[in-house]
Amino acid sequence: MKNICFILIMALFSCKQSETKVNIIDNMGKYITASAIDETVKELESKYPQSDRELIGRGVKLVSEFWSSGDGSPDEFKEFCINSYSQDKKALADRFSKNLETVFGRFSQVGKEMQFPIHVEDGDLLPVDEIFASWSPFAHVSDDWFDNKLAMILHLNFPYYSLDERNAKGLQWTDDENAAVNLGLYFASRTPGRIQQNIDEISTRAEMYISNYNIYMHNIVDEKGGRYFPEDMRLISHWGLRDELKSNYTDRTETGLLKQKLIYDLMIRIINQEIPQEIINTPGNDYCPVNNRFFRNGRDTVPEREKDTRYAFMLEIFRASKAADKYSPLYPDAIKRAFDQGLEMTFDEVETMFTTFLSDPVIEKIGGFIGRRLRRPLRAYDIWYDGFKARSSINERDLSARTVKQFPDAKALERQLPNILQLLGYGTDRAEEICQFIAVDAARGSGHAMGAAMKDDVSRLRVRVPETGLNYNGFNVAMHEFGHNVEQTVSMYDVDNYLNSGIPNTAFTEALAFLFQKRDLDVLGFKENNPDKARLAILDNYWHAFEIMGVALVDMYTWKWMYANPDAKPEELKAAIISIAKDVWNKYYAKVFDVADSPILAVYSHMISYPLYLAAYPIGHLIEFQLEQHLEGKDFAKEIDRIFSIGHCSPNVWMTKATGTKLSVEPFIKAVTNVMDEINAQVDD
Ligand SMILES: [Zn+2]
Repeated sequence: MKNICFILIMALFSCKQSETKVNIIDNMGKYITASAIDETVKELESKYPQSDRELIGRGVKLVSEFWSSGDGSPDEFKEFCINSYSQDKKALADRFSKNLETVFGRFSQVGKEMQFPIHVEDGDLLPVDEIFASWSPFAHVSDDWFDNKLAMILHLNFPYYSLDERNAKGLQWTDDENAAVNLGLYFASRTPGRIQQNIDEISTRAEMYISNYNIYMHNIVDEKGGRYFPEDMRLISHWGLRDELKSNYTDRTETGLLKQKLIYDLMIRIINQEIPQEIINTPGNDYCPVNNRFFRNGRDTVPEREKDTRYAFMLEIFRASKAADKYSPLYPDAIKRAFDQGLEMTFDEVETMFTTFLSDPVIEKIGGFIGRRLRRPLRAYDIWYDGFKARSSINERDLSARTVKQFPDAKALERQLPNILQLLGYGTDRAEEICQFIAVDAARGSGHAMGAAMKDDVSRLRVRVPETGLNYNGFNVAMHEFGHNVEQTVSMYDVDNYLNSGIPNTAFTEALAFLFQKRDLDVLGFKENNPDKARLAILDNYWHAFEIMGVALVDMYTWKWMYANPDAKPEELKAAIISIAKDVWNKYYAKVFDVADSPILAVYSHMISYPLYLAAYPIGHLIEFQLEQHLEGKDFAKEIDRIFSIGHCSPNVWMTKATGTKLSVEPFIKAVTNVMDEINAQVDD
């Protein structure tokens, strides 16, 4: 989590700099000549003959890439390197470790305090609360640490190790060596404040655009003017639309199918940007997505379509991000920053995993099985087929009756956290030890977990607790967040060196939280008696991964296209994305559904509001599967405790330490192939 926090923190670094300063940073990387670098390296080598020559070379080269004329003359550069090179790396790393913990830990405490009123149900909100909440204590750290050269000292002494090197050598590294490598990952960009501010500002606008992209479903009609959705139903694109489509799998009547088809057609109109502007976030006028007819005050009217706004936002974000490229010598484009830096997996590695998964013939068998269950040919929107959810054999009302009594308020949940851990197999002392660092608050909004960025701080479990007590749905969310909190606590307190604390990335965070969430009924003491549950759960997870991998590939290929066509116009980007989405569809989905040319994989709103993030979801599915398989038959608590305390290293090294093998799609494919063989054998019987 530390790594994620760190990346988020870096994104928050923004600062108003004077134009002169900006211009001086602009010659970063071009100012120090190759011969100046050579001379510096030679002098350092003769001053420290015992030192690792290769590391000296790397460190000096890296500092030169961050060095601009504003930092000093070439002679001053040389002098700085000679004087700042340290032979006692351990002492220097320890000092950085201690001070980074103080800075990130305390600042994150301050940030959490500032945000407390807007996150927690605790009295009335004041108008100033929003300003306090949006102020970031981290805003100037990066600028300050480059200006006073702390960041340069760091890069000189702890040079960057590439992902390949980290994957190849990570398993052999001692804790100290791993910490030194992790330290080298800090301050990887020196993005000027105005450029970062621009990215933040456009991202905020894009998020607002998406969060206001609601459709009033009562106004969505079929060709005959038939209305199928309730009056108060307002759905956000794409999440709300998708979830409503999913919920209609339980309606086996003609109406259920009609509603799904209307939602699908609506999504296609959004992708194609044929949707009338007046339908977005505005109730009152009817729209038929099947034939694209619009009725203003009941009269058939030719509307203004949404004018490729969706794609204009993507281009704006792309251009703002691209402007930061030259300040990021280690990750010189936004794709590398999302993959190599954020996920610590390369684009190619992720692409190969996804396409291997998508190409496996087992998916056609699952498609066939879904068709048999639905008793109809598959349609493109069946990528969201929801029928593998093992419906609990226990009534949700009974479960809620139990949870509201057991957890009347947030504090009751907090008191019982050690109990919950014991029910998952933890010993009394260990459960108490972990839970002393977890506090529960009643959330204003949806549930979330906020970790600590230092020892001595607590992580916070936030969940919405109605007046009547925590219902089952809330408890289920709380278990997910609790998974985050336990991981946050163990990966901070049980990792000796602060620089090694945390886990690899967001995909891991979520996978680990699901391990807890899935065990919620065990904690409540309800025994499931659905023998197919395990098999269905594998199919459900697999089908979901299948869906989201295609979506992620579209996002990934779109960014490649934008880098190849940096001056594209919104309508050109639209045409490109539709063509990319259809290509991915035709390659991996068409044969499963027997439907060609669907652009549906382009509907996800993440592409606009969280660009290059989608790949984390399917990776999360793969991690979750591999971990569950590893945990089978083992002592859950003991094993989870060990895994959570591995600390931060590259995902492949982490997975190997956790499960014995690196992250891979093969075990998942194998397991689901077995499940399908069993199911087909039953049918044959
Ligand atoms: Zn989560």
